[in-house]
Amino acid sequence: MPTAAQNGGNDPSGKGGPMFADVAATSIFSSWPDRLRRAAIILLVAALALIVMVAFGDVPMVHALLAFVCIGAAALVPWQLSNSLARSDDSPVEIPVEAAAVRAVVGAMPDPAVLLDRAGRVIHLNPAASQLAPALRRNELAQFALRSPDILTALREAIATAQPRRTFFVDHVPVERWMELVITPLVVPTAFGGSDLCMLMTFHDQTPLRRVEEMRVDFVANASHELRTPLAALSGFIDTLLGPARDDAKARERFLGIMQTQATRMARLIDDLLSLSRVELTAHVQPDTEVDLVPIIREVIDGLEPLATDRQVVISTELPATPLPIAGDREELLRLFENLIENALKYGASGGRVEVTLFAPETSGDARVAVRDFGPGIAPEHLPRLTERFYRVDIGDSRAQGGTGLGLSLVKHILNRHRGRLQIDSVVGQGATFTAHFPRAKPKTG
Ligand code: ADP
Repeated sequence: MPTAAQNGGNDPSGKGGPMFADVAATSIFSSWPDRLRRAAIILLVAALALIVMVAFGDVPMVHALLAFVCIGAAALVPWQLSNSLARSDDSPVEIPVEAAAVRAVVGAMPDPAVLLDRAGRVIHLNPAASQLAPALRRNELAQFALRSPDILTALREAIATAQPRRTFFVDHVPVERWMELVITPLVVPTAFGGSDLCMLMTFHDQTPLRRVEEMRVDFVANASHELRTPLAALSGFIDTLLGPARDDAKARERFLGIMQTQATRMARLIDDLLSLSRVELTAHVQPDTEVDLVPIIREVIDGLEPLATDRQVVISTELPATPLPIAGDREELLRLFENLIENALKYGASGGRVEVTLFAPETSGDARVAVRDFGPGIAPEHLPRLTERFYRVDIGDSRAQGGTGLGLSLVKHILNRHRGRLQIDSVVGQGATFTAHFPRAKPKTG
């Protein structure tokens, strides 16, 4: 086991440094296994004693040499036996089938895995482990190569108690990763039918899970906040109507109007949240019903005509005269185009016109539906984030327009389910174009 001083020499120099040493700090002698070191000391002492005896004439030279050979053999055999499992040479003759299997299993594990002996010396490690901790070497103590105090504590405890240990740590190099380390004590067969206690260390990258968890927490916080705002407005107006404005008919009418808007906003938010979770639930199942995009787009535009009139926007269309079938879910597609065209009418109203174009190459390639407005456009730094849930360029503007911040996220998820994609192009001051790409339906056979 390493001394405190040995470990101290490998401690991280500062916060945020790598969790694993780059090279193991070992002297030539300290890298010798214990048993070999003991054998060397025995041989040294025996040689000295025999030299003295020969010098005083007590023992003939030949007898002294024979005695030295016997002592040497006796001292080296135990080391040779104990070392046979941990040897780095690949001789199948010396290693029992079980040990070779252990090596193969460790080597084939997809996550970094290291097998240690009961002292913490590395017996096997797989390529992923070498990549994670380049200083880990066979026949050397893992404690020299592992820097994180959490890892060292877990390893020390697992060795002392022979019980499994689990710990988490952050690896900062080359990128920040949340890692889980599981140490499992194992009984591993040794040469000549014996067995020994070993420690299997497996490392698991928990970064994706952690990101999902952070997103979930953010989502719940955002959704509660979005619901609480109209709810607070509603209860405020209820209090006013029950109190000071009880007999004020004019105020009552105005407040009821505001309350209706807030209630509609809450209903819309809940509606969007439910649609989003429904689409996410079925994200892995691509729709297989054949639907014609042309009548779906017409239906959406007809439904949004009153909004267009209200915002003084003219909607022009360029749709093919023949059907354009894709594999799709009609209800989801209605929702998708509704969101894109409604956004164009709301945020791009100042441009006075919106163009909806359906384009499909004759032979192959995606079907594309482009919704273009001539409004203020969107600054480039916002473009990559527009499809995030609750992301809005201007929260006040979105709320004033009755937006929930979920529309484009829903669009992205619906397109993902249809194995399509969303393309957003915009030049500030010249409007924005949202293009939905759909793979074409395979022609029906038979
Ligand atoms: P919202 O419910 O707020 O409309 P969306 O997810 O549909 O949410 O849109 C997110 C944000 O993207 C909007 O709040 C708005 O700031 C911006 N946006 C969407 N479409 C346009 C557009 N055509 N022109 C300018 N900005 C847009």
